[in-house]
Amino acid sequence: MKHYSIAIDGPAGAGKSTMAKRLAQALGYVYVDTGAIYRTVGYHMNLMGIGPKDADGINRLIGDVNLDITYDAQGTQHMILNGADVSDEIRTPEMSMIASTISAHKVVRDFLLDTQRDLAKAYNVVMDGRDIGTVVLPDADLKIYLTAAPEVRAQRRIAQYREQGQKVDERKILAEIIQRDEQDMNRPIAPLRRAKDAVLLDTSYLNVEETIARLLEIAAQRLG
Ligand code: C5P
Repeated sequence: MKHYSIAIDGPAGAGKSTMAKRLAQALGYVYVDTGAIYRTVGYHMNLMGIGPKDADGINRLIGDVNLDITYDAQGTQHMILNGADVSDEIRTPEMSMIASTISAHKVVRDFLLDTQRDLAKAYNVVMDGRDIGTVVLPDADLKIYLTAAPEVRAQRRIAQYREQGQKVDERKILAEIIQRDEQDMNRPIAPLRRAKDAVLLDTSYLNVEETIARLLEIAAQRLG
């Protein structure tokens, strides 16, 4: 049976997860947050005392990472690492940077590729990340590149962290967003890049409802 896939890529804080989740709900697809998968690998290595640049350590321990991706009744994705739900623990500024650094290693990307592709084979998916349209699902039925000005993206991340009850240093979040863009766009393997056939959507001046309306319009045109 043919399964449909929608790839949403873009930099941190562009609204990918909010939009991907809403789009998946509207279309009855499964939402796959691939950033959470990289975060979980980073979390494991951190727990084991392995730094995100320690290639030897990562090579040694990557085989011990046992990941399960589950969905609750609300369609929210949960990351299960060696039997424990770490979905909340991976959502800190520190884990964002660790995920970005660790995701540059080829061994990590290779390790996660089949996990992501298998999900798209099994379900209709809206998958968000950095390389979904370019590497993971180059034949996706629809590709979106979602972006926004760094200051706008930082404000969104700050609001998210505050909602979760985390204390945030506003200037630090903006600096981290810029550093993470830089790392994600300039790494040699699977850098963040707009696929040639991706629809570009800049959400700097769009609110959530305006963005989702635009995305639903594009999906209706493309998927019929
Ligand atoms: O999207 P999120 O902020 O959770 O992603 C965390 C990090 O994981 C990103 O900064 C990026 O380096 C990495 N990532 C990736 N490829 C993806 C998704 C995330 O390299 N498909």
